[in-house]
Amino acid sequence: MSRLSAEFTDKSVEAHFSHHLLPQTKAQLRTTLLFCATAYLLFAVTDVLALGLTSMALVLFGCRLAVGVVAVASCVTNYLHPHSVRRVYLTASITEVVGMLAFAPIVLARPAELPWHSMSIGLMIMAVYLYIPNRLVYSLAISVISTIVFIVVAILTGTLSGQEQLTMIMLLILANCFGYISARRYHVIRREEFRVQSVFKNLSERDPLTGCHNRRYLQQELLNMELSRARRFRLSLAVIACDIDYFKSVNDTYGHAAGDRVLVAFTTLLRGMIRENVDSLIRFGGEEFLLVLPETDLAGAMHLAERMRLAVAAAATNIAPGKSVSVTASFGVTSVNFANVVARFPQESVIELADQLLYAAKHDGRNTVKALEFYGRPGLHVAARAVG
Ligand code: GH3
Ligand code: MG
Ligand code: MG
Repeated sequence: MSRLSAEFTDKSVEAHFSHHLLPQTKAQLRTTLLFCATAYLLFAVTDVLALGLTSMALVLFGCRLAVGVVAVASCVTNYLHPHSVRRVYLTASITEVVGMLAFAPIVLARPAELPWHSMSIGLMIMAVYLYIPNRLVYSLAISVISTIVFIVVAILTGTLSGQEQLTMIMLLILANCFGYISARRYHVIRREEFRVQSVFKNLSERDPLTGCHNRRYLQQELLNMELSRARRFRLSLAVIACDIDYFKSVNDTYGHAAGDRVLVAFTTLLRGMIRENVDSLIRFGGEEFLLVLPETDLAGAMHLAERMRLAVAAAATNIAPGKSVSVTASFGVTSVNFANVVARFPQESVIELADQLLYAAKHDGRNTVKALEFYGRPGLHVAARAVG
């Protein structure tokens, strides 16, 4: 994590974190901006009390109104672009800058109340650091620049003695220090929380031996997500079930540790042949694995399974110095094309068909690929011909 900005140094992790929190950040931003803008407008009463119902009071009301308008426009923009993290931070920053800028004419029009103004700017700085959600670097820049501009304006009005000016400057420096340190702590804690959550999520979704996703992740998240996406965009989704042949005899002959090595080598080989961050490899149980391949038709999945079958048969795993083991695997391949399939079906039925095909491959002598299109209705795929 970066020490200054309190953000993950890895940009993709930071982007993942920001997206994960986006709904919450947007809701917070909406509440905080509307609350701050309302308070800003309500303080127009103090302009009228200080200046009377004059044209200057009206000008200041215009400035306050501008802050309200920008705050509302920010909320509307974020509502219209619900997935943009950049927009959230941009609108937060713009509203903060406009709020700070609108304060300058208020200070200049009411110079006699400088101590109260410095208290107001102190509170506004706290709101920027801690209350309105924004990136810490933006909060820091806006607060520090606003403080410097305020101090210059306050000195130029010439209504404070030297001692009062020094006190004001020291208090505002303290406000910035406390604001930055507290905001930094908050940003670090949120990211630590996210990191721990990610570690636990990863542990609950993956198999510790091979690092593959586990069956729980497949059934509770992945399959439903991929089927819904394929259905929405009328795409194909392929599933390959594969199982190492006579794996029990590997364990019986060379021992369980050697069997583990073979399993790890097998998954490393398969993982190297699929698209990173697109396809998924799942340990379905023991030495049976599932591949979920988005935007892949039956021909593409069969081709991949055949390449995998040949690669597994050609590979050898070192289990001890000078000793290696070769295995073969059987594959059951199916694909559902949502350009043709509109009927709803239980998500498990695709896996069931891939599994049936895998066992057909086993019955057919193993080290082979069986494939069949899935049509969404159990009767139809039984009638279709298995491609060996
Ligand atoms: P088939 O060709 O019909 O699939 O025969 P097989 O021997 O591969 O299948 P079977 O279901 O009879 O045996 C699977 C074996 O896989 C039995 C089990 O001990 C072993 N196994 C399951 N999980 C692991 C594991 O994590 N590590 C090791 N070393 N072995 C495992
Ligand atoms: Mg097996
Ligand atoms: Mg098995």
